[in-house]
Amino acid sequence: MTDNNRLRIAVQKSGRLCEGSMELLKAIGVKLSIRDRLLIAHSTNLPIDLLRVRDDDIPGLVMDGVVDLGFIGENELEEKMLERRAADKQHQYDVLERLDFGGCRLSIAVPNEMPYQGIASLAGTKIATTYPYLLERYFREQKIDAKAVMLNGSVEVAPRAGLADAICDLVSTGATLEANGLEEKEVIFRSKAVLIQRRGELPQTKQQLIDKLLTRINGVMQAKE
Ligand code: ATP
Ligand code: ZN
Repeated sequence: MTDNNRLRIAVQKSGRLCEGSMELLKAIGVKLSIRDRLLIAHSTNLPIDLLRVRDDDIPGLVMDGVVDLGFIGENELEEKMLERRAADKQHQYDVLERLDFGGCRLSIAVPNEMPYQGIASLAGTKIATTYPYLLERYFREQKIDAKAVMLNGSVEVAPRAGLADAICDLVSTGATLEANGLEEKEVIFRSKAVLIQRRGELPQTKQQLIDKLLTRINGVMQAKE
């Protein structure tokens, strides 16, 4: 049985959000005994359990109320929200804080040799992406008739492999794009990590703990400014 009195926070187990999330938890005084490979880490000084999962699972865990808080990139959060809304599943959450790590942008990039005169050039194309809901929303807003092709990995090689005409992927420096002969053309979403809370009333002690953590997060963020 899970202990419902302890605050449950979902964090990425390993990857680009992991270090920032763990550093922030440490900075606000959450002490942990993490043994690698364990799904759950218990705090040794506060009634908090960390659930260490793939980032893709975090929005759903919060929206289904399985965990109380989660650290997640806005790109993944918004994509999963759109996906769940389309499927008539719970898709509500509250953003407690926009954080200062995990910055990246979701961009459309086209092969160097593709003639490009603006987004109208994308009409009739297939674009490979891991974020079909965000991309299709962009197509609708821009009134472009193009197709999102879902790929969970190797998005950047899709044009060369003949699977798509262009791609829509996360970019931070652009080095991966360049290495694959692609040129960034349109930024469709700018993202940072956020701390989110599940909807619905929490037991008072849990909410008080969240408020305390949030005050400390604000303090840590202000000290960095
Ligand atoms: P997981 O195994 O947890 O599913 P992943 O491969 O999906 O990991 P990461 O590459 O670790 O995920 O990226 C997690 C998040 O980090 C992204 O969704 C995004 O919010 C953020 N991020 C920041 N910079 C980048 C970048 N250059 N490329 C990809 N993601 C980035
Ligand atoms: Zn992921």
